[in-house]
Amino acid sequence: MIKLPYEQIVEKITSKAGITAEELESKVNSKMEQLSGLISKEGAAHIIANELGIKLFEATSGKLQIKNILAGLRNVETLGKAIQVYELREFNTNGRAGKVASFLMGDETGNIRVVLWGEQAEMVKQITPGTIVKVAGAYVKENNGFNELQLNEKSQLVINPEGIKIEVKDSKVSYRKQISELKETDNNVEILGTIVQVFDPRFFEVCPECSKRVKAENEVFACPDHKVVEPDYSYVLNLVVDDGSDNIRTVFFRENMEKVLKASKEKVLEFKDSPEKFEETKNTLLGNIIKINGRAKKNLFFDRIEFLANNVDVNPDPEEEIKRLDAEVKKAETS
Ligand SMILES: [Zn+2]
Repeated sequence: MIKLPYEQIVEKITSKAGITAEELESKVNSKMEQLSGLISKEGAAHIIANELGIKLFEATSGKLQIKNILAGLRNVETLGKAIQVYELREFNTNGRAGKVASFLMGDETGNIRVVLWGEQAEMVKQITPGTIVKVAGAYVKENNGFNELQLNEKSQLVINPEGIKIEVKDSKVSYRKQISELKETDNNVEILGTIVQVFDPRFFEVCPECSKRVKAENEVFACPDHKVVEPDYSYVLNLVVDDGSDNIRTVFFRENMEKVLKASKEKVLEFKDSPEKFEETKNTLLGNIIKINGRAKKNLFFDRIEFLANNVDVNPDPEEEIKRLDAEVKKAETS
């Protein structure tokens, strides 16, 4: 099943059927009522698109801009520029050794993480921020709230393809929002604020091969795809960030948590075994200014908006921030 965000479904239907968003909304609501609330809003919108003869997916494979890459797509081709390269990780499960590496890449429409396995993972050593990369034959998986491009042995990764230039929607021009203005549909936006609260990190067991969560049964960990495994650990850190307009709970998984804590995986895992060691780190984080790129996400359980980090800058350049503020003030004055 391909996951198209609701706002994109609305955009497609309204533009192709020539109806307003309000008209569509009432159609969606009556469809949901008709089906006694057994379907989601997205599901209802899919049915309406069908009834109106509108195709929601034109290209389910082939060359795509990053913003059009959706979870569930297969055989995706895309181009981007590396923004951040993560550490190559090695694992050993049941005598099978493996490697996994990843990097974040962007184009003019957004950014996405690319995940490489086995021998292909070695190619990450040739990639540095700014390297242009072409990916083909990849499939898309959702992980910790973000889409990832996964490569397998049939996929291709071309480093520095000839004759290609890419404009990246980089952090300097990305869309800055005040926390009070954040909406649950905001994607690829940036916030800047002060850390005002730090929660204890949480750790969970994952399959070392595919990073899926694994659960213990009789003290044995099993992954649905890779059988019994010696679990690896993943982790998440929650911070409350305040920018003067409001505050928000922000969520940092794995590498982003390592960046916030300025710590390696080994160091982070020490906090799992000795949580008391985290107290000192907590105090050093409070009051720091942090710049986060990511997306807003509705926490249905607490009925509030949270911010999911996709990339984080723990040392934002103050001069750059002041220049940016000046530019925004000027823009506001002339408009
Ligand atoms: Zn697995």
